[in-house]
Amino acid sequence: MSKKIAIIAGAGPAGLTAAYELLKRSDVHPIVCESTTAIGGIAQTYNYKGNRIDIGGHRFFSKSERVMKWWFNILPRQGAPAADTAMRKHEIEYAAEAVVEYLCKDCMNAQIRRTSPDPEKEDDVMLQRPRISRIFYRKNFFPYPIGITLLVARRLGFINTALIGCSYLWRHTFPLKDETYLDAFYKNRFGDRLYRTFFEAYTEKVWGVPCSQIRADWGAQRVKGLSLRRALTHAIKDLLSSEFKKQQEQRETSLITRFFYPKFGPGQMWEAVTKQLRACGGEVRMQTRVSGVHTKDGKVTSVTLENTVTGAQEELACDYFFSTMPIKHLFGMITPRPESRVIEVAEGLAYRDFLTVGLLLQKMHIQEQGKKPASDAPDNWIYIQEGGVRVGRVQIFNNWSPYMVKDWKETVWIGLEYFVNEGGDLWVMDDQKLIDLGIREMETIGMIKREDVLDGCVLRMPKAYPAYIGSYTQLGVVREFVESVPNLFLIGRNGMHRYNNQDHSMLTAMLAVDNIVSGRTDKSNLWEVNLEGEYHEEKKEG
Ligand SMILES: Cc1cc2nc3c(=O)[nH]c(=O)nc-3n(C[C@H](O)[C@H](O)[C@H](O)COP(=O)(O)OP(=O)(O)OC[C@H]3O[C@@H](n4cnc5c(N)ncnc54)[C@H](O)[C@@H]3O)c2cc1C
Repeated sequence: MSKKIAIIAGAGPAGLTAAYELLKRSDVHPIVCESTTAIGGIAQTYNYKGNRIDIGGHRFFSKSERVMKWWFNILPRQGAPAADTAMRKHEIEYAAEAVVEYLCKDCMNAQIRRTSPDPEKEDDVMLQRPRISRIFYRKNFFPYPIGITLLVARRLGFINTALIGCSYLWRHTFPLKDETYLDAFYKNRFGDRLYRTFFEAYTEKVWGVPCSQIRADWGAQRVKGLSLRRALTHAIKDLLSSEFKKQQEQRETSLITRFFYPKFGPGQMWEAVTKQLRACGGEVRMQTRVSGVHTKDGKVTSVTLENTVTGAQEELACDYFFSTMPIKHLFGMITPRPESRVIEVAEGLAYRDFLTVGLLLQKMHIQEQGKKPASDAPDNWIYIQEGGVRVGRVQIFNNWSPYMVKDWKETVWIGLEYFVNEGGDLWVMDDQKLIDLGIREMETIGMIKREDVLDGCVLRMPKAYPAYIGSYTQLGVVREFVESVPNLFLIGRNGMHRYNNQDHSMLTAMLAVDNIVSGRTDKSNLWEVNLEGEYHEEKKEG
């Protein structure tokens, strides 16, 4: 008797996890269909002449032990220093041994115990990296997440800091009653003045709409646990301490945490998973777009696949269908067409697109108040809060992993991130003009000089952010429809239209497979992932 078939749209973290779990724990044959030439979706690594770009910078950390173990099983933790550890004086917790369980017993022994890999000698390794990110505002660096330290007060100006404190106390006494939207949410937590200084412009750059139109859900995920009250309490405690200076220094270094990162960026994880899937009988078909999803008697019965090179189409029968594609696209291809109210909600969902300008430099020009000029910065990424430039964030890939950069000692490889709309002026701009714009903006804020630029490239990522605007509040209508089709699973980030990180995206895939294996028919557990509204930045990393 032939095996059951699951067709999975998308070779990103969610789709590949679903395929891996099906192969490992069921007798269902997974066929992953990916419309592009890249493995990993948003979490791919783009290789430009040996210099690698990570879209957005993917830290590997999760509160879920299941996910952490899963990652380390594919890429074990480092057991020896990386190329730059000694030079940068990084403190790393090395793993002594790795226990690796392969996907199928036919390929390898079920479980292997071995010493942890040395990143200088092996490629399949997960590095531990220190996390430093700061806000660049008025030609000064501020810690992120923001805290009130002497350095911050000095850079903001003491009068301004006092006004920020007063504005916070005012809002604390007279909070805004309606916290539906992000502006009120931020003001109630930080006061109006700090909101305007550090949150308003950046958030509007990310979403392209005023904070008064963005639902607070997004903010709740990012800033819960981060409070000015706590920052002020710390500042007062430090002031009262007899070791004021030491306390302040400790406060600043306490913001440095650690995260895990594959030697060659996030795409390496998903390329390694794909290799195992293929070796163990799974299929991953590239340049294959799912273009039609056909239902009969309330179940998905077949899917139309289109070869994006030749345009050839085939219809493949399936027992299960997993979608990680944007909900908006999925509902445009389901036949027979669902009720118009469902289609309207799906079509009304909004997204924000993203592009990175990669610049290879001889050096950067970092001028920090009270410090000597430097030719690089320690940050993984820097939030650009300056007005007058459109760049939102700068990634410094050398600091993610030295192996991301062809010549990490002699060059600095940076990514300028622009939050854009597909079809907008930046999206359609010629690559060379975008590179030129990037260089001009970086010169304007004083971080680089044109004569130090060696090369550049552009990478566009459509629908990087599912937006919490448009018909998002009516998403329940879509969910209701999905509940009525037992073998249709929406998983991942755009697949569920939720601001899911890799770990959340993977968990939704794992739970979907759990449900198939256990015979559970309701899918509510998938929608419970990433509902805790906890501040992502504050989880204990590393
Ligand atoms: C700027 C930024 C920073 C981030 N930082 C982090 C971080 O630090 N840590 C972290 O864990 N996560 C981070 N994430 C989130 C992470 O990228 C996502 O959670 C993850 O990539 C989602 O996986 P997915 O499989 O659901 O979707 P995707 O990665 O979007 O993959 C979906 C895939 O489906 C394909 N596809 C779409 N339509 C079709 C179709 N019709 N047919 C076939 N294929 C199709 C796409 O080409 C794509 O490859 C970040 C995201 C962004 C945008």
